Amino acid sequence: MDNTYDIVIVGAGPAGMTAAIYGVRANMKVLMLDRLSPGGQMINTNEIENYTGAGKLSGAELAIKMFEHTQELGVEFDYKTVVDIANDGPLKTVTCEEDDTVYQARAVILATGTVPRRLGVAGEEAWAGSGISWCAICDGAQYCGKDVVVIGGGNSAVEESIYLAGICNRLTIVTMFDLTADPKACDLLRKMENVTIYPYQEVLEFTGTDRLTGVRFKSTQEDATERYVTCDGVFEYIGFQASSQAFAKLGILDQMGCIQIDARMRTSVPGIFGAGDITAKHLRQIVTACGDGAIAANTAAAYVESMGRISAPNNCDIVSPAT
Ligand SMILES: Cc1cc2nc3c(=O)[nH]c(=O)nc-3n(C[C@H](O)[C@H](O)[C@H](O)COP(=O)(O)OP(=O)(O)OC[C@H]3O[C@@H](n4cnc5c(N)ncnc54)[C@H](O)[C@@H]3O)c2cc1C
Repeated sequence: MDNTYDIVIVGAGPAGMTAAIYGVRANMKVLMLDRLSPGGQMINTNEIENYTGAGKLSGAELAIKMFEHTQELGVEFDYKTVVDIANDGPLKTVTCEEDDTVYQARAVILATGTVPRRLGVAGEEAWAGSGISWCAICDGAQYCGKDVVVIGGGNSAVEESIYLAGICNRLTIVTMFDLTADPKACDLLRKMENVTIYPYQEVLEFTGTDRLTGVRFKSTQEDATERYVTCDGVFEYIGFQASSQAFAKLGILDQMGCIQIDARMRTSVPGIFGAGDITAKHLRQIVTACGDGAIAANTAAAYVESMGRISAPNNCDIVSPAT
C-alpha cells in the first residue's frame, strides 16, 4: 500500500472534514485520520442552531452530512490515533498508535480539537463516567426525572443545561462567574422553572459512597457561604484543553497548548498547518472551524504545489517530488 500523500489531515471534526473537501477539490491526494467516528464534538451536541443555512439540526445529523460530503468527493478516511509527527524536511512522517502505522505527506493539517477540562477536586476521579459526565447528549437520558447539577456557565454549559432541564426533575447550575453564554440562551434558561443558578461559586468536592450523591461548593464572594446540593448526576462544562500533546515537540504550541498559526493557518514549521479549536483563537464554533479548515487546505495545497506533488489522485498527472 502506498502510504504517501500530498496532505494528511489529523482529526475529522468540522475543521478536518472541511480541509479534506478543499484539499481534494484542489486535486490533492488527501488522507483524513481520526481516532473516533468522524464528526468531532458535533457528535455530542444535542442541537445546533447557528450553522449558517442549516436551520436547527442535531450535531450527529450535521456530522453525517459533512462526512458524506467528504466521501462523495473521494476523501480517504481511516480510524487511527496519531501519536507523533516528525518534521523530516520536505516530507513529514505521521506515526499512529495502531500497529505503528506510518504515513508520509508533503503537508499535514492538525485539526484535533480539544477535550473537556476537569476541575481536579475530590471525588471527581472516583465518579468520572459513572455519575460525572462531560456529554449531555450521550448520558443525559440516564437522568430523566432525576436531579442534576451542571458545572459551568459558558455557551456549552447553558446550551446543554437547556436540554437537560427539559428531561430531568431539578437542575442546579454551579458556576465560577455569572452566566457568560449568548444572552438569548441565558434568558431562556433563567425562565425554566426547574432551574436554580448559583453564580460565583467554587466546587469543593463530589460526595457519595456507592454512587454520586451530591456536590459541595462555596461562594467566592465575601460571605464564603458553603452549600451542598444533592443530585444523581453531574455534567461538567468548564472549558477545554487542546488535544495537542502529540505535536509538542514540533515547537508550535503556545502556553495553553494551542497551535500558533498565522492568518493563513501556517505554523512556524513549513508544511505543518493548524485548523479549528486546537488553534489559538477567540471563537470556537463549527462555522469558524470550517472556515479555518478551508483556509488551511487552500494554503497547504499551494505549499504542496510549490514543493512538487507526491502524486495526483487520478494518477494521470504524476509529478516527481522536488528534491
Ligand atoms: C457540548 C457542546 C456544544 C456545542 N454546541 C455548539 C453549537 O451549538 N454551535 C457551534 O457552532 N459550535 C458548538 N460547539 C463547538 C463546536 O463543536 C466546536 O467548535 C467544533 O466541533 C470544533 O471543530 P474541530 O474540527 O476544530 O474539532 P473537534 O470537533 O474537536 O474534532 C477534533 C477531532 O480530532 C480527533 N482527534 C483528536 N486527537 C486525535 C489524534 N491524536 N489522532 C487522531 N484523531 C484525533 C477527535 O477524535 C475529533 O474527532 C459545541 C461544543 C460542545 C462541546
